Formats: sequence, C-alpha cells, structure tokens
Amino acid sequence: MAAITHPLHSHTLTLKHKLIYKTQTPCYKFKPTQKLTISSRLRAAVIGGGPAGSSAAEALASGGVETYLFERSPDGAKPCGGAIPLCMLDEFSIPQELIDRKVTHMKIISPSNLTVDFGKTLKPNEFISMVRREVLDSYLRTRAESKGANVVKALVTKIDVPDLYNQPYDIHYTVGNKMKKLSVDVIVGADGANSRVAKAIHAGDYACAIAFQERIRLPDDKMEYYQNLAEMYVGNDVSPDFYAWVFPKCDHVAVGTGTVCSKPDIKKFQQGIRSRVLPKIAGGKVIKVEAHPIPEHPRPVRVRGRVALVGDAAGYVTKCSGEGIYFAAKSGRMCGEAIVKASEGGYRMIGESDLKREYLKQWDDKYITTFRFLDLLQHVFYGSNYAREALVELCGDEYVQRMTFESYLYKKLAKGDRWEDFKMVSSTIGSLIRCKLMGKEMESFDPSVLAKFV
Ligand SMILES: Cc1cc2nc3c(=O)[nH]c(=O)nc-3n(C[C@H](O)[C@H](O)[C@H](O)COP(=O)(O)OP(=O)(O)OC[C@H]3O[C@@H](n4cnc5c(N)ncnc54)[C@H](O)[C@@H]3O)c2cc1C
Repeated sequence: MAAITHPLHSHTLTLKHKLIYKTQTPCYKFKPTQKLTISSRLRAAVIGGGPAGSSAAEALASGGVETYLFERSPDGAKPCGGAIPLCMLDEFSIPQELIDRKVTHMKIISPSNLTVDFGKTLKPNEFISMVRREVLDSYLRTRAESKGANVVKALVTKIDVPDLYNQPYDIHYTVGNKMKKLSVDVIVGADGANSRVAKAIHAGDYACAIAFQERIRLPDDKMEYYQNLAEMYVGNDVSPDFYAWVFPKCDHVAVGTGTVCSKPDIKKFQQGIRSRVLPKIAGGKVIKVEAHPIPEHPRPVRVRGRVALVGDAAGYVTKCSGEGIYFAAKSGRMCGEAIVKASEGGYRMIGESDLKREYLKQWDDKYITTFRFLDLLQHVFYGSNYAREALVELCGDEYVQRMTFESYLYKKLAKGDRWEDFKMVSSTIGSLIRCKLMGKEMESFDPSVLAKFV
C-alpha cells in the first residue's frame, strides 16, 4: 500500500485513509463508529497554546491521539492578573517554583473606602497563587510537548470546514512568511476571546468586558506592603459593573480594572483605581500596559461537527471574579479526555454527538450552576455604589469569607450551615436595604447646603 508523509512530521498515513477523506460520495465509508486502522490515528489540532490549549493537547497526546498544538506567540504574555486557586496546583501538578507570590491577605475596599480584611478564615496552608502567564503558559506547553504533542509555532489564518461529515478540516497557517496546510479529524478551539475557530464554525458571539492593566514596579518599601496582599476596589470611580484590583507579582504589582457597559471609559476607570491607590504606589514605574477582552457568557454554540471550543473561546470566565485560568485548563483537559474516550485512544472516528455527550454535557453538569450563581451575584452587588457598600459590609462576616474562599480555592460548593445560611441571606438583604437608604440620603443631600456653613 502506498504511503504519504504527513506535512508536519514523519508519521505515515495510508493512501486508503487519504482516499476515503477525499471522496465526495455520500456513501460514507468512514462512519463515526468505524474503527480507524492503527496506521491512521485520529489527528487533532488544538488552536491556541494558553492554559486551555496546552491542557487539551496534553490530555490528547497522553491518550494516544496524534496532536498538533498551534501557538502564534510562544514568547508572549497574555494580559492577566495571574491569580489561580489552590486546587489547580494539585490538579494540574503546577510546581511551587512557578508561583511568584502566595497571597494570604486580601482587602476589599468600598466606594466610601470602608476596608475589610477578606482573608481572615484562611488556614495556614491556604493561599491564592500569583503567577506570570508567560511562565505558566510556557510550562504547560512544554509539558504537553513532552507527552507527545507537536507544538507548532504558527499563526492559524484560516480553517476550511468540510461539507461532508466524513471529510477532514484543513488548517491554514503561516510559519515565518510561508503558508502551510494541515488536514485533521478534530479541532479544539482554544484561541481565546477573539477565536478564529469560533468564527469558522459560526459559534455566535458573546458580550465581552474589556480589562485594562498596568504593571507597576514599586520602590522596595511599597512592594513590601503588597508582599502577600491583594486588593479589590469597588465603586463607580473604578468600574460601573466590575471591580478594580492590585495584585502582587514577582517584582511588581498589576493594577487594573474592567467593564462591560462602559468600555470607551476604561482609561478613566484606570485613572480612578490609580487615584485610589496613589499613596501605596507613589514612586512606582509603569513597565507594561495591557488590555484584552474577557468573555461574559458561554457562546451560543460550543460544539459543531468535530470542533469543540474550550476556555475563553467557549466563554468560560466567571462573572463577579473574572476568573478564567482554572476553567480554561479544566475545560481543555475535559475536552481532550472526552476525545480520547470517544475515539477509544485515537482508534475510532468521533462525531458531534460524542463531543456533546462526553465533553459538553459533563462540563455543563459540573459548572453551569456556579456560572449562573456568580452571574446573579454580579447583578446584585456590582450595579450601584450602595450595593457595593453592602457587598463590602457582608465580606466582613467570617461565615461569608469561609464560604467564599472554600468555593474559590477548591472549586466545589462549600458545606454550609442552614442557620448560618439563613443569617447570611438576612444580613445580605439588611445590608442592601441599609446601604440603599443611606445611599438615597446621600443622593438627596445637596452639598451647597453644607457650603453655607463653612
Ligand atoms: C487583564 C486581565 C486579567 C485577568 N486576570 C485573571 C486572573 O487573575 N485570574 C484568572 O483566573 N483569570 C484572569 N483573567 C482571565 C484569563 O486571562 C483567561 O480566562 C484565560 O487566559 C483563558 O485561557 P485560554 O487558554 O482559554 O485563552 P488565552 O489565555 O487567551 O490563550 C489563547 C492563546 O491562543 C493563541 N492564539 C490565538 N489566536 C491564534 C491563532 N489564530 N493561531 C495561533 N495561536 C493563536 C494566543 O496567542 C494565546 O496564547 C484575566 C483576563 C484579563 C484580560
């Protein structure tokens, strides 16, 4: 039997395999249930080498699928705060040396500058890890490669979606100035918020927030203050619908903010957070300015044909916290494992129903409630200054802190206490009403009245 050489590596494909793909006849020889021959393993392209893509590629390659991981800029750094939960370290075997800072103290600061220590219930071995994305991403990519994934440093420019379900997808990409093409059976779209893969399969749009961040190198004494401390600021001055942050990194802090409803004003809000933290960052030098979209919701379509979207491309960032790294890695891994399972280790062709059953359903069963709950919280607490005052007030409650941190750090719903839950709901309502009343009083207060007395 004649053989052809694969364009990217020396793996040989049978001509039979090629002919079956090239056929345009509707009598499909290559049914989704049909076993592939040993010489023609399932071929998967993962587009995007962030946490989602690397985790997908690692799972695919480890499970026996011929895997190609495309990353356009392996030396780049994704604009990101870099905060990851404790459970990710174990679950994804992240070595300690990748962590820049271990945050054990957190402050949340209200519009009126009411400050609450938000890490009081953390146990001695608990912390939030701060990583630099260039470090984390490169580590995860290298690990995927060591498991057998072919890492291709290239920009994917176009994807040809076949007309018939049994034909391959053609990936067009550029390396240097050269245009190349690779045919694959399955695609994992892990190419972030501006996903080209999502466009190719008409996955539909989602609303996006814009996040803006400055990396600021501080004088030593100022950096000392942020050694293991992260700060969250809320208020109309820093964002009309999100929060602003100061996160410590290895030798600098990341100061940023985000918004969905008022994107043209993002620089004004960045100025707002700068003003609020001014005394703490005085003398600092801006070393990098970055901005990037953050998806607000999952896309209308996340699986079509033999293409699945993961991470930001799918829209897996939680409202309220803007957390996406863990969910990117987790969805990538779940999708990779789903393909391995459905293809029986790369020996069987898969179809849309396999991806929906083994990946999408598993994901939605596990996380959709968390996403909806955080969406609701964002609506309740981030919409106005009185609601933000109530949020900060509530964050002072130790029960609220314990529940929040357990859910964030371990990604499972913390075991509650019915009586404490009841008290929490009551005090939430109480805080909202009190802060609203106070807010109303303040709104109706005319400053010119005060001016007459001074
Ligand atoms: C300012 C900011 C702060 C944030 N802070 C946090 C935080 O503290 N904690 C947290 O959990 N989340 C945070 N997030 C969210 C987090 O960054 C994302 O959810 C996460 O990066 C998603 O990972 P991903 O792998 O899906 O996509 P990405 O990290 O966006 O990776 C996509 C990759 O695909 C590559 N790519 C794209 N198109 C192509 C192409 N055509 N060809 C080849 N390669 C391509 C890109 O170069 C990139 O490497 C923040 C986001 C922003 C914008």
